[in-house]
Amino acid sequence: MNYHCKYCGHKASSVSSLTGSSCSRHPDGPNRGKHALYEGGEKSRYTCKYCGSHSSSISSLTGSSCSRHPDGANKGKHQPAL
Ligand SMILES: [Zn+2]
Ligand SMILES: [Zn+2]
Repeated sequence: MNYHCKYCGHKASSVSSLTGSSCSRHPDGPNRGKHALYEGGEKSRYTCKYCGSHSSSISSLTGSSCSRHPDGANKGKHQPAL
C-alpha cells in the first residue's frame, strides 16, 4: 500500500517515511513543514473538498489555487476530500 501527502501528493511506502520529510506545498510555505498523511484511499479521481474541482492525482489537484479556499479566494491550493 502507498501513502500519499494531502498537500502535494508525494507517495511513500510508510507513514513514518512520508511524515519524516519536508513538503514543498506545505500550507505554511515550501518546506516549512512535513508531508501530512492523506487519510483517504487511492482513487482514480480526487475532488477538492472546498470547491469540487476534480483531478486524476493529488499532485495535480494540489498544484493549482482554489477559488473557494477558506483563507480567501486563491489564497491556498485545492485540498482532496477523503
Ligand atoms: Zn507533501
Ligand atoms: Zn478547490
